[in-house]
Amino acid sequence: MRKSDIIIVGGGPAGSACARQLRKLGQKVLILEKKSFPRPKVCAGWITPKVFDLLGIPPEEYPYLLRQINRIHFYLLGIKIPVKTHQYAVRRYEFDEWMICRSHVPIVTHTVKNIVKTQEDYIIDDKYRCKYLIGAGGTHCPVFKKFFSPSNQRPEKDLIIAVEKEYRCNYLETGCHIWFFDHGLPGYAWYLPKGNGWLNIGVGGKFLKLKARKKNILDHWHEFTKKLNQLSLIDNIPEHPRGHTYYLHRKRQTNRRENVFLIGDAAGMATLDMGEGIHAAISSGLMVAEAIAKDKEYIPDSLPRFSLPGIFMPGKKQ
Ligand SMILES: Cc1cc2nc3c(=O)[nH]c(=O)nc-3n(C[C@H](O)[C@H](O)[C@H](O)COP(=O)(O)OP(=O)(O)OC[C@H]3O[C@@H](n4cnc5c(N)ncnc54)[C@H](O)[C@@H]3O)c2cc1C
Repeated sequence: MRKSDIIIVGGGPAGSACARQLRKLGQKVLILEKKSFPRPKVCAGWITPKVFDLLGIPPEEYPYLLRQINRIHFYLLGIKIPVKTHQYAVRRYEFDEWMICRSHVPIVTHTVKNIVKTQEDYIIDDKYRCKYLIGAGGTHCPVFKKFFSPSNQRPEKDLIIAVEKEYRCNYLETGCHIWFFDHGLPGYAWYLPKGNGWLNIGVGGKFLKLKARKKNILDHWHEFTKKLNQLSLIDNIPEHPRGHTYYLHRKRQTNRRENVFLIGDAAGMATLDMGEGIHAAISSGLMVAEAIAKDKEYIPDSLPRFSLPGIFMPGKKQ
C-alpha cells in the first residue's frame, strides 16, 4: 500500500494549486488523477487578472497561448453593450497541464472508486493510504459522493449545464461577444477567439429552467451556431460540441468533515452570474493547503460569488 500524508483526488486547477502550495509548505502530497495530461477540459478558459495574482506570476510569464481581452461585447434584449475590461483567456488543454507540472508533486494515473475510513486513515481502492484527503475531482468527485452526499445535497436549481467547442478555424472576428438570455436561454452564450486560430464558442444555462421550458441545451447550441454563421462570425457550423455540468456557489455548505476537504467544482463554487469557476478552484485549493499545513480554518464562504463587478471595474479587487 502506498502511503502519503495527504492525497488529492483530481489534478485540475483546484487539485494542482493545492498540491503545489502544500509542497511549498513542506507537506508530503500525492495526486490521484484519472486522466493523463494534457487532457481536454470542457471550459471557455476565461480567467481574471486575479488568477495570475494567485498563481504568483505576471501574465507575460505564462508560457502558453494567452489572449488578453480588453473589451467584451455584451448583448441583452437585443441591445449591444460594449464594455472595456481587463481579462484573459487560456486553453485549458495547456493551462491544466502547466499547472499540474509546476506543482512538482508525484501524480499517479488512477481513477478513484472506493474510499474507506479507518480509525486514523483513509484507504483508497485498497492501494493508497493517507491522513488527509482532498476532493478535487470536479462535479462528480468520488470524495464528495462518499463523505458529503446525501446530507450535503447540491440543489438542482444551482446546476449549470453547458456545451462548448474549442477548435481551430478561420474565425472572422477577433472580438469577444457574450449574449445573455438569447432565444430564452436561462444563461448565456459566448464567442471567444483565443489567437493562433483557436476559437471557443458555447452555451450554458440553468438545468432546471431549461427542463421547465422543455428545451435541451443542444437546441440552444444549434440556434446559437446558426446565428453566429448568419452574423458571419464563423464560416461553417461546427459539430459535436462537448458538454459538462457544474454547480454554482452556495453559502454555508459543508466543505470539511474531519480530515476530508472539498475544493473547486467538487464543492460547487462557480460564480452566480457568470459560472466562473477557475478562480474559486485555485483559491479554495490554496486555502485548504494553508488549513492543513498551518492548522487554520477553511472558510470558502469568503470567496467572491459574482464575476460581473470585476469585469465592469477590472481595477477593483473583490
Ligand atoms: C462549458 C464550460 C465553460 C466554462 N468556462 C469557464 C470560464 O471561462 N472561466 C472559468 O473560470 N470557469 C469556467 N467554467 C468552470 C470551470 O471549468 C470549473 O469551475 C473548473 O474547471 C473547476 O476546476 P476543478 O479543478 O475544481 O475541477 P476540474 O477542472 O473538473 O478537474 C477535476 C479533475 O479531477 C479528475 N477526476 C475526476 N474524477 C476522478 C476520479 N474518480 N479519480 C481521479 N481523478 C478524477 C478529472 O479528470 C479532472 O482532471 C466552465 C465550465 C464549463 C462546463
